[in-house]
Amino acid sequence: MAAATSAQPFRLGLTGGIGSGKSTVGMRLAQRGAALIDADAISRSLTAAGGAALPVIAQVFGNDLIAGDGALNRPRMRELVFANTQTRQQLESILHPLIAEQTRQQYAAAVATGCKLVVHDIPLLVESGRWRQDLDGVLVVDCRESTQVERVMARNGLSVDAVRSIMHAQASRAQRLAAADWVLYNDEGVTIEALDAFTDQIAAWFGL
Ligand code: ADP
Repeated sequence: MAAATSAQPFRLGLTGGIGSGKSTVGMRLAQRGAALIDADAISRSLTAAGGAALPVIAQVFGNDLIAGDGALNRPRMRELVFANTQTRQQLESILHPLIAEQTRQQYAAAVATGCKLVVHDIPLLVESGRWRQDLDGVLVVDCRESTQVERVMARNGLSVDAVRSIMHAQASRAQRLAAADWVLYNDEGVTIEALDAFTDQIAAWFGL
């Protein structure tokens, strides 16, 4: 792992399976002064109405991929991507360079403020190997799969099967743990307050 120089922030990759508590940790680190760069939020903004990815998506996949409100027709795109690996790769080849560019801009803005810690919230960090080279370390928020299911059912009102199918499309718990430099265990016995306290310790560790 490369050590950050004094002039550059530490680039921390933050990941975890759905429902692990990753967003809670990311938001807490941001409250403590970290710059949070959220890969999902960038991806959503690129495909929202007026988003930079939409003209290319319309050109490649057709105008019926654009919904009435001008945003990406997500259900239709999901159908196409699930049905065909090549389509998924085509969509990724449009989105990834745009996400990378937005990430670079947000990172440069964080450096300009003299920020000590940049947290890259990347849900699919483990699944998508392209991120690792741009990070100084990876923090995985971890919990048991049964806890993921309980939390996501409660948070999103989804069925067990729906949550399990999302989890099935993500890396396994073991794969994520294997990619971790640090693991924050967030399961039974860890209250939200305790999670916040652990996260504050991590922030302090990075000088925040
Ligand atoms: P992720 O971003 O990994 O999907 P979130 O941070 O959104 O996960 O957490 C999922 C849900 O579980 C949220 O409703 C959150 O408040 C709750 N949660 C996370 N950690 C804990 C905890 N230690 N105790 C109780 N609820 C938790």
